[in-house]
Amino acid sequence: MARLIFKKNPPPESISAENWSSWRWQIQNSYRSQADFERIFCLTESEKLAFSQGGEIFNIRTTPYYANLCSQASEDPIRRILMPRKEELSTGAQQMHDPLGEKANSPVPRIIHRYSDRVLLLVTDVCSVYCRYCTRKHFTGQDQAFIKESELISALNYIRTRPGIREVILSGGDPLTLSDSRLESILAELRQIKHVEIIRLGTRMPVVCPQRIDESLVKLLRQMKPVYVMTHFNHPREVTEEAAIALELFVDHGIPVLNQMVLLNGVNNHPAIVQALSRRLLYLRVKPYYMFQCDPSLGTDHLRTSVEESMQIQRALWGHLSGIALPNLSLDIPNGGGKTVLVPNFQTSHHGPIRSYKGWDGVEANYVSPAIEASISPLDAEDYVEEWQEILSARSTQL
Ligand SMILES: *Cc1c(COP(=O)(O)O)cnc(C)c1O
Ligand code: SF4
Repeated sequence: MARLIFKKNPPPESISAENWSSWRWQIQNSYRSQADFERIFCLTESEKLAFSQGGEIFNIRTTPYYANLCSQASEDPIRRILMPRKEELSTGAQQMHDPLGEKANSPVPRIIHRYSDRVLLLVTDVCSVYCRYCTRKHFTGQDQAFIKESELISALNYIRTRPGIREVILSGGDPLTLSDSRLESILAELRQIKHVEIIRLGTRMPVVCPQRIDESLVKLLRQMKPVYVMTHFNHPREVTEEAAIALELFVDHGIPVLNQMVLLNGVNNHPAIVQALSRRLLYLRVKPYYMFQCDPSLGTDHLRTSVEESMQIQRALWGHLSGIALPNLSLDIPNGGGKTVLVPNFQTSHHGPIRSYKGWDGVEANYVSPAIEASISPLDAEDYVEEWQEILSARSTQL
């Protein structure tokens, strides 16, 4: 099969290939302190200041692998994602400790239930890289680590007793910082709950530590199917040969992968960058899903774009990027309003049944709605709902 060869991210000379390819080594040897970072980077005054006040800001951490993707330029896009700088300490236009109002939507610890049919289950607060724009700074990186047994029991019980929950999204923190055996036990518990149809796993490990994705992990996820992986690439440079191998491992084992990116000032706020990223991901059979407006969590103003700019980027992509490579620009309404999709408006006028539209390249035409009143669909939707329930409850447990 013809396969594109992406750029490798080889270890610096001082690190053996064996260590470099071990995910446990990558996590155990994460850079956390100013001294760790200074071995690799020449820190700017702004970065030094952020480190010296490190206790007050969000936890700092990166894998050596991810740090190795940065150049020495202080405005390097990946450096902007992982390195704290003094702007984090200043007050922003909107500063929210918990922008998505997650605490208010958390009926039991570690569960966030905002939409009727799906919940988030925060299985750990640990990530192997702390992204400076993280929306969940109120929870992430507080070193509570793996969910407590008592919390897991009550979270599972919450899901078990609510048949309306069809989907569980494992999140955190990063669920792939857990060992396979811990992950397996949580997934197996969820698979015992008949009404849980879909499991999603939100992870940045394919980006920051692709070594984590190996045969045994993907076999485990395949066994627990249907499991969808939601990953988080922000920049084409993150799509390395190592990341490509990880993504193909998922997809080749029948695990669909979708990407959620965040639009970030100085990182990826240009249509050509989003396009390059989306094309690479699509080639690897990863569906670009969301392009998020950055949430106003503490110390993120220097990383946020304006809504106008984000919408211009989305508009510029329309018509120029395959529909299946086009992510949906989405904004989370602060205080737990949920997601809203920001779509370019192509309608130019509206008179009664006649609407006028102007497409991406300027072609304009009317669409006239039929005068006949819509009748109720002849299909009885209720039958299909019932039939689906029967299919689900008769489902064989593959475990
Ligand atoms: C984003 C999110 C989801 C998933 O939303 P989708 O649009 O289905 O991807 C679920 N629950 C919460 C609390 C969320 O923030
Ligand atoms: S990987 Fe996700 S949860 Fe972890 S710091 Fe980055 S944005 Fe936050």
